[in-house]
Amino acid sequence: MSKVLSVVVPVFNEEEVIETTHGRLVSVLDSLSLPYEIIYIDDGSKDKTVEIITPWTREGDEVKLLTFSRNFGHQTAITCGMDYASGEAIVIIDADLQDPPEVIPDMIAKWREGYEVVYGKRSTREGETVFKKWSAKTFYRFLHRMSDVEIPTDVGDFRLIDRKVRDVLLRIPEHNRYVRGLIAWLGFRQTYVLFERQARAAGVTKYPLKKMLKLAGDGITSFSYKPLRIATTIGLSLSAFGFLFFLFVFISRLFNLQVMEPGYATLMCVILFFFGIVLIMLGIIGEYIGRIFEEVKGRPLYIVDKKKGVFFEKGRDHIPGGQ
Ligand code: UDP
Ligand code: MG
Repeated sequence: MSKVLSVVVPVFNEEEVIETTHGRLVSVLDSLSLPYEIIYIDDGSKDKTVEIITPWTREGDEVKLLTFSRNFGHQTAITCGMDYASGEAIVIIDADLQDPPEVIPDMIAKWREGYEVVYGKRSTREGETVFKKWSAKTFYRFLHRMSDVEIPTDVGDFRLIDRKVRDVLLRIPEHNRYVRGLIAWLGFRQTYVLFERQARAAGVTKYPLKKMLKLAGDGITSFSYKPLRIATTIGLSLSAFGFLFFLFVFISRLFNLQVMEPGYATLMCVILFFFGIVLIMLGIIGEYIGRIFEEVKGRPLYIVDKKKGVFFEKGRDHIPGGQ
């Protein structure tokens, strides 16, 4: 029998924290007295995470575990969790207790009022580096200006979505996903609950700068053509400047005026500067072409290695090219 509530938890090398998280999750979910399932998605962990979770999947049909064949990334892991979720409402939550499970009942209350998306908005962030807080804040505001979609600020992936939203997401084959952007783009009735983002309960972040930059790149390029338009604007203004400069030199020559010393240094600066700009523009275009390439190949989003526990949903099995 499918469940009322599904909780999707991506895990990547979380052996230090997963038991505490599970305990807290279960006690919150038990107190709700509705049929629930917890779906753990192991994103290619190399530690004991899978061994710790496996026995829980044998105790009934509440706990399930999907393991990926390798590390596919957090956004892909939560996508997979939603694909396999059978609940009427689906909650996505981090495994490190930075998103407190105690907020879930508030989300459910909002869902019962008729909202289809209830996201957790961070009122404060505890125990994160000044750099992380600053970069997150700057990025969310930057994305807000760049993007053509209203993506809420200070909001991560901790949220509740209605089954309706999950069904639409399942039909979106897009790679390099920026899930919170996709959900914002979908629309429906959306609201938020405020919560205090806690410090990680144990272990270290699994989001090094490289992954953060990839997420930021996905966020911007999936939801905006503005970088390409900016490239055009810069190109146009530079050529306008070049034309004016040409006129200036031409006219001064007509009147036989020597306005400029002939010099290599100036020339070098101009050449380097302009070549730099051209290469940056090419890079931006390349970024988009790379994404087109990813889509055209049509590979599955993720590869599931093992399934443990009782599943009520088939994930993307029935979609051509989808795992
Ligand atoms: N995670 C994942 N795959 C990854 C990186 C992270 O599934 O490649 C999971 C991780 O186990 C955690 C969540 O994504 O449940 C958020 O990661 P983390 O807490 O390390 O990120 P931070 O909160 O530091 O941004
Ligand atoms: Mg975290």
